[in-house]
Amino acid sequence: MDINQLLRKNIQDLKPYSSARDEYTGEAMVFLDANENPFNQPYNRYPDPLQRALKEKIADLKKVDSNTIFLGNGSDEPIDLLIRAFCEPGKDNIVTMNPTYGMYQVAADISGVEIRKVSLTSEFQLDTTALLAATDENTKLIFLCSPNNPTGNSLNKEDMLKIVETFKGLLIVDEAYIDFAPGKSLLPELGSFDNLVVLQTFSKAWGMAGIRLGMAFASVQIIGILNKIKYPYNLNILTQQKALELLDQHEQVIDWVKLLIAERDEMTTELQKLPFVVEVYPSDANFLLVRMYDARGIYEYLVEEGIIVRDRSKVHLCDDSLRITVGSKEENITLLTTLKNLI
Ligand SMILES: *Cc1c(COP(=O)(O)O)cnc(C)c1O
Repeated sequence: MDINQLLRKNIQDLKPYSSARDEYTGEAMVFLDANENPFNQPYNRYPDPLQRALKEKIADLKKVDSNTIFLGNGSDEPIDLLIRAFCEPGKDNIVTMNPTYGMYQVAADISGVEIRKVSLTSEFQLDTTALLAATDENTKLIFLCSPNNPTGNSLNKEDMLKIVETFKGLLIVDEAYIDFAPGKSLLPELGSFDNLVVLQTFSKAWGMAGIRLGMAFASVQIIGILNKIKYPYNLNILTQQKALELLDQHEQVIDWVKLLIAERDEMTTELQKLPFVVEVYPSDANFLLVRMYDARGIYEYLVEEGIIVRDRSKVHLCDDSLRITVGSKEENITLLTTLKNLI
């Protein structure tokens, strides 16, 4: 597949901004090339625009080549950049599933790009025939999310592979929750498909939503396009330093994930015992979608008690459902005790 054929013409022709740190990347005794202030070290210096040190560590951890990694200000940045690189406003379109994460729609709307939403099945799985039928010659991107937000389940791998094999544009699979679903990532397939992009993030299992760090994994060519159009210094020094620190203690993340999965299973059992709970959907993530009688009433009761969950009852296929994040043991007990008081 020729990725350049998919690109917007203005991006193909773009001459990117060249920063001081692009033009000279080595070590030196004196740096007088970027109009930086000599005081207030180390924050006086512009960060590495390509975040090389951080990518080396992530490459080791994920067992991929570092030039197949793009790092952004959250996953939201690569979502937006992919749309801006490939979709001509008013002409091209995007296909995604329904329900799913809201940012694909928002990013498409901001760019003036049509987004077509294809319903999941009642089991929250893909209808691959309907999804592919929704594409046409102007469909540049398909966004999938697995494990999916807000439903919590992983999509069938064979279905996603069928789409990436058949579709003539880019398939983007958002794996924000993949650390809670071992063995289900499409990352090992990256080398087999030059139209596959996998998104992951430090915001969930890594516990670093506050530093804003998202990852996109794709072919060298696609990563080159994202690098070409991103803000030159899209990741600040503080974020890069903090992420390097946490990557050195990544056993801690493994422990957190184990603990959260155990809590999720415990919460599932306990929620199922409540008479007003209709169904706790199976989850591969750090949250549960729970169907209940009078979800809105229960949501409002919880708010009064100082507990905030997410009311998803107006979302397609999620009637009467609340999305509940798995918290600490204490937080989960507080939630369960408060709900039991309703009986
Ligand atoms: C939380 C979440 C993200 C994370 O976005 P960041 O910008 O990396 O914080 C991405 N995708 C989905 C589906 C999410 O639920």
